[in-house]
Amino acid sequence: MAMPEKTDLTCNELVELVTDYLEGALPTHDRLDFEHHLVWCSWCRDYLDHMRRTIELTGGPDESEPPSPLREQLLDAFKDWKRTRET
Ligand SMILES: [Zn+2]
Repeated sequence: MAMPEKTDLTCNELVELVTDYLEGALPTHDRLDFEHHLVWCSWCRDYLDHMRRTIELTGGPDESEPPSPLREQLLDAFKDWKRTRET
């Protein structure tokens, strides 16, 4: 019996869950169904890819670009330097 279980998501259900998935808001059980669907459905993989890029462009919840720590490091170094000069 190779029939898929009825717990599998349909593409419509996946589309409804995609923002929750990208926000990490899906319960584990739903997330597993979601990822299982992606294994065999290339349409939904493309859709997820597209949504993820859209959210990145619009500054959504996906924080793929952490703020550069370099500026703060420089400021700290400057403050230390100033403090040692003053004492
Ligand atoms: Zn699908």
